[in-house]
Amino acid sequence: MKTSLLSVIIIFMMLPSTGVTEIMAKPVENETEEQHNWVEYSIHYKTVEAGSHEYTYWKNFIERTSTCHISHRLKSVVYYCDVHDHTDSKIYLEETIHSNEHG
Ligand SMILES: [Zn+2]
Ligand SMILES: [Zn+2]
Repeated sequence: MKTSLLSVIIIFMMLPSTGVTEIMAKPVENETEEQHNWVEYSIHYKTVEAGSHEYTYWKNFIERTSTCHISHRLKSVVYYCDVHDHTDSKIYLEETIHSNEHG
C-alpha cells in the first residue's frame, strides 16, 4: 500500500502540473459489460516537496534574492468496487503552497 502510493506520487511528480487535474479527475469507467461500482473508501492528505525557485525583493533599498520552497498538498482517495472486490486510488492536487510570500 505504502509503496504503491509512493509510486503514484512519483508518477504524479513527473507529470506537467497543468494536465494533472484533468488526467486524475475521475476513476476511469471500464467497458459496459464490466461496470465498476467505485465508492470512495478513504481519503488522506499529504504534503510533498515540489522543489524551489528563487525570487528577488527589495529591502532597505537593496535588491535581494531569496529562495522559496514549493510544496503540493495532495489528496489521495482510495476507491472500492464491490462488484469485483478490488480497489483503486487516485491522487488529486489540492493546492500549491509557496513557503514565502512574494509577488
Ligand atoms: Zn470493479
Ligand atoms: Zn514561491
